[in-house]
Amino acid sequence: AVTSSKINAGRPPSAIWKIPSNVFEIELCKFIVKSWTLPEISPEICLLCRNHFTNVFEHISTVCPGTSAFREAWWDTVIENFDISLSAELSGLCTRDIYLFLLGSRLISNITANFDLRTLHILNFRFLRDTAAWYNRYLFSIQNTT
Ligand SMILES: [Zn+2]
Repeated sequence: AVTSSKINAGRPPSAIWKIPSNVFEIELCKFIVKSWTLPEISPEICLLCRNHFTNVFEHISTVCPGTSAFREAWWDTVIENFDISLSAELSGLCTRDIYLFLLGSRLISNITANFDLRTLHILNFRFLRDTAAWYNRYLFSIQNTT
């Protein structure tokens, strides 16, 4: 196991709590902080695409073909609302770094220094939460039909 790649080796940046401006965004940030501490698991098979993952949120937000509609909508918003340099930087990141970026990691702060961070973080957090919610609903629906 490569411990340095573990998300839960890091801690959520405390600056996350400066982001929310209303009660809904506070709930959103609570979800993100929980995602930061999600333990890595032994590889499991994704029920949407049959590929393996060790972090379900990372898988469904960055690579899973089953959630590509969410990812495309998120990319469209990034491209429409932020400078082209942001999408250019993001397209060069590996999936783990994209996931850390979505979680609000300060590691990528030099990329985002020129952008409206609050708007960007909220966009990213909503994307993670909506994708996870959709995946959970999907799991629930197949459990109840088999
Ligand atoms: Zn998948």
